[in-house]
Amino acid sequence: MEKVYLDNASTTRIRPEVITHMTEVMSQEFGNASSTHSFGRSAKVILETSRKTIASLIGAKSSEILFTSCGTESNNWVLRSAVKDFGVKRIITSKIEHHAVLYTVLALQSEYGISVEFVPLEINGAINYHELENILSEETQGKTLVSLMHVNNEIGTILDLEKVGTLCQNYNALFHSDTVQSVGKMEINLAELPVDFITASAHKFHGPKGVGILFVKKNHVLQPLLFGGEQEKGWRAGTEAVHQVAGMAKALEVSYQKLAEERNHIQNLKNYLREQLLEAFPEVVFNGEQFNGSFTNETFYNLVNVMLPFSTDKTSMILFALDMKGIAVSRGSACQSGSVRPSHVLAEILNLEDIQKPSLRISLSHYNTKEEIDYLIEMLKAV
Ligand code: PLP
Repeated sequence: MEKVYLDNASTTRIRPEVITHMTEVMSQEFGNASSTHSFGRSAKVILETSRKTIASLIGAKSSEILFTSCGTESNNWVLRSAVKDFGVKRIITSKIEHHAVLYTVLALQSEYGISVEFVPLEINGAINYHELENILSEETQGKTLVSLMHVNNEIGTILDLEKVGTLCQNYNALFHSDTVQSVGKMEINLAELPVDFITASAHKFHGPKGVGILFVKKNHVLQPLLFGGEQEKGWRAGTEAVHQVAGMAKALEVSYQKLAEERNHIQNLKNYLREQLLEAFPEVVFNGEQFNGSFTNETFYNLVNVMLPFSTDKTSMILFALDMKGIAVSRGSACQSGSVRPSHVLAEILNLEDIQKPSLRISLSHYNTKEEIDYLIEMLKAV
């Protein structure tokens, strides 16, 4: 069996259409999009057409889309702006956010003395909406921002954006959602969602690395992140990476064109994977799913986070053992693989004994097949 890539929450393979499009742009559209001559104007057209395409695919206006270098930058920028530019004095978030949010919020707390509150979680790791409302309803000085991710990158729990956005509106709070794991993988209509800011990253939806999106609802004005030019409304100076942006727009376009078909394929694979895991190891636990006598399979359709009923001495070597067989999966989030620290997300939902056991994040894409799942199960049995 060739190498098997089952780590699509970490990054994805670039679609061939995207590579073709980027190659064309790189070879023919090398002008600086800020130049006024024909080379520059032509590059600018690509940039602005890409912005339009991206905006229309997620129900936004072109003027609400900013290009950044990645999801991490988008999250850092918007959280910092919320405190510096919008006078936010309190951030409500959760302990299972990606570190791009969590560490930024903690840095802002120590730099600006803002208050930070963490929403209690349900037993499976989902946000407890009732507790969120309780915190929102507390008396506070100054503005509040709620920052909660849409789809958790480790356990696949899904936030109800509509519900949280409406709660935020009711309590006059701003709402930011890290949608890095959901943009390009499910329908998002920002025209109808009560959300102020979202973030995305092209390499999570089969686009290039090094380019991301920050959506800022039209009535909000940010201060510059970088100074030095008029790019991105003067808010983020620096010559635009036209080929990256063009690749991102192409990737998003194709992802949404093929969404129904690819989601169906991936969901079927996920169902198959869960069945095979249960058959091979009846004691498995699906982290992130609710347990009502049996697991509910309601986490995001491309991801399974499974705790294997193996002895704890296998925990440290399991990823290595699979890697030796050509299989790429992840333990916790990608940034932590290779480190011995347990995932900060699993640490919030598992007890001390379970956290020592091997948990794997297996994340799928439309490129995966049943044969690959069979191979994974076979190799897991041999561990
Ligand atoms: N937010 C989430 C939920 C993620 O999964 C990731 C990537 O792992 C990021 C943010 C960071 O995105 P990027 O790799 O583009 O910096």
